Amino acid sequence: MRLIFLGPPGAGKGTQAESICKDYNIVQLSTGDILRANRKHGTELGRKAQSFMDAGELVPDQIIIDMIKEELKKPELVNGYILDGFPRTVPQAEALGNLLTDMGQKLDTVLVLEVPSEELVQRLTARRTCRTCGKSYHLIYNPPKKDGVCDLDGGELYQRDDDKEEPIRNRLKVYENQTKPLIEYYTAKNLADNINGLGKIDEIYSNIKQVLDRYK
Ligand code: ADP
Ligand code: ADP
Repeated sequence: MRLIFLGPPGAGKGTQAESICKDYNIVQLSTGDILRANRKHGTELGRKAQSFMDAGELVPDQIIIDMIKEELKKPELVNGYILDGFPRTVPQAEALGNLLTDMGQKLDTVLVLEVPSEELVQRLTARRTCRTCGKSYHLIYNPPKKDGVCDLDGGELYQRDDDKEEPIRNRLKVYENQTKPLIEYYTAKNLADNINGLGKIDEIYSNIKQVLDRYK
């Protein structure tokens, strides 16, 4: 199965992708996670991306397209994947379309996770992320078993620099202007399934499952 996960920052894409990957035996490809790992390791890509990320701006398209082109070649993706955080602009979506054609691959669907912006601010300001594996928690809605520690690998939980008020506001604006048009783009190609992202994490997941079982 090959999927795109589209939705605003904080919609719950990472949270839901974890369950999807387990149940459907596919791999999550999160451009945000890849960029953060590059920053952590001080690579050239990480250095180029840094200032854009901290300001809540998008990293330039060509950098992201070159990066995803390499990622899509990885052998662990043979069973399928879910793209989380990519594409985020129309030029990225067009580049992805060309890459998939070259590789002889087709997307099954684009899951569009819908959440109103007031809720997104609540979710993002109290999000905490594992430094080691990138898993996200919420201080109130989805807390770790032990304060400040990741359930999966015991990593330290931290607040991302862009999960603070100013960059959050900017990211939501960037989503409205640059990423939201992709809903139209994929709907026009008959490739979008809308999911209500408000409610309990497991209820949302069972709605996602109902949709995905159609593509098994
Ligand atoms: P969230 O999960 O909150 O939506 P991400 O982890 O996906 O955030 O992205 C964090 C930051 O990484 C973005 O604000 C942007 O600077 C950069 N980034 C991630 N994916 C892309 C992309 N496809 N195009 C451009 N920039 C990106
Ligand atoms: P995204 O990857 O779309 O940016 P995340 O999966 O990181 O979003 O979720 C953003 C924040 O919202 C995290 O703190 C997460 O624990 C929390 N969250 C995820 N789903 C829900 C939900 N259904 N209700 C409340 N909080 C949620």
